[in-house]
Amino acid sequence: MTEKEVLEQAKKLFPKMQKIRRDIHSNPELSFKEFETCKYIQEKLNELGIENQVIGNTGVVATIGNGDKCVGLRADIDALPIIEDTGLDFASKNEGVMHACGHDMHTTMLIAAAEILKSMEDSLGGIIKLIFQPGEEKLPGGASILIKEGVLENPKVNAIFGQHIYPGESEGMISLNSGPVMGAPDELYFTIRGTSTHAAQPQLGHDPIVAASQLIIHFQTLMTKYKDPIEAGVLSITSINGGNTTNVIPDEVKLMGTLRSFNEEWRTQMHKLIEENSVALCKLYGCEIDVEIKKGYPPVINDEALTELTISNAKNIVGEDNTIVFEPKMWGEDFAFYGKNIPATFWFVGVRPKNLKKMPALHNSKLSPSENAMPIGTSMLVTAAINYLRG
Ligand SMILES: [Zn+2]
Ligand SMILES: [Zn+2]
Repeated sequence: MTEKEVLEQAKKLFPKMQKIRRDIHSNPELSFKEFETCKYIQEKLNELGIENQVIGNTGVVATIGNGDKCVGLRADIDALPIIEDTGLDFASKNEGVMHACGHDMHTTMLIAAAEILKSMEDSLGGIIKLIFQPGEEKLPGGASILIKEGVLENPKVNAIFGQHIYPGESEGMISLNSGPVMGAPDELYFTIRGTSTHAAQPQLGHDPIVAASQLIIHFQTLMTKYKDPIEAGVLSITSINGGNTTNVIPDEVKLMGTLRSFNEEWRTQMHKLIEENSVALCKLYGCEIDVEIKKGYPPVINDEALTELTISNAKNIVGEDNTIVFEPKMWGEDFAFYGKNIPATFWFVGVRPKNLKKMPALHNSKLSPSENAMPIGTSMLVTAAINYLRG
């Protein structure tokens, strides 16, 4: 099948996809609790005659075809703790949980891709492993758990592809690039302890608010003076809490934030610097500090050869003009774990309705991606798999 023929097939499946997507959208489940979603995926695969099994409690893995080579296709299936505010008639029925990252569409596109691939099973010339992965949104990331449980073995997966919807581009667009695509997100937690005193007698205490203020500014210096300016990285303090009145210096301030990077070596160096500098700086102010750095996912680095293959597929599916370079972002994505083990590539499917110049971002309670993008994403998955196996 040519790329165009795959797209024609995928378009025929649109009504079915819409139904599946809306079923999943209205029944979202949080990371690692995707029990009903898991059952639903199994039902759909069973209807297609595709053997499958549960992995990692709430994930599903299945294979199509036979042979020595094996290629993985991955979709994440979890939702977010967000109160949906789209007003859609198929909005979330689970109060406080929403598919606000498009994983409902990712799952649907992989089910549709499975249907097309199953129909050409005898001519695949290899094995396609479908991975419906739980817990993308929550540390340690479902990908790392599935890998530990052997998802990349038996049969051994030689290469893997994944995709994400992208509100930043309109429907009909595919964006991707090789090399760094998404950052490594680390969570930062600080507790600064001083000595409480009357605000009019600061000399009798140690002020954790002043120490916290200095620390926040110092972090910005770390980012500019301990990083090659060519290298990408960002540190944002996103929460500051301490004190509750005008005339008392409190004894404690809590900070939270995030560090994002592409370069693993610099990332490790920063963890050390943040820790050491925090202790030293707080000491200057007579305060103590607890630093907790929760290491997030690795950066997503796209394999060059696989990306070239995918770019060629995209050009045949959406045309040369609609295949564009993805500007790397500092979002995190646990697809990165697969890339640490085997060649991997990850692309973005534009979902902004054609008539809109702007739409709500990922993780926004009003996110309503265009379903018209689904046949394109499906075709991208199918062609990635068949063209990889064709070599
Ligand atoms: Zn997300
Ligand atoms: Zn996502």
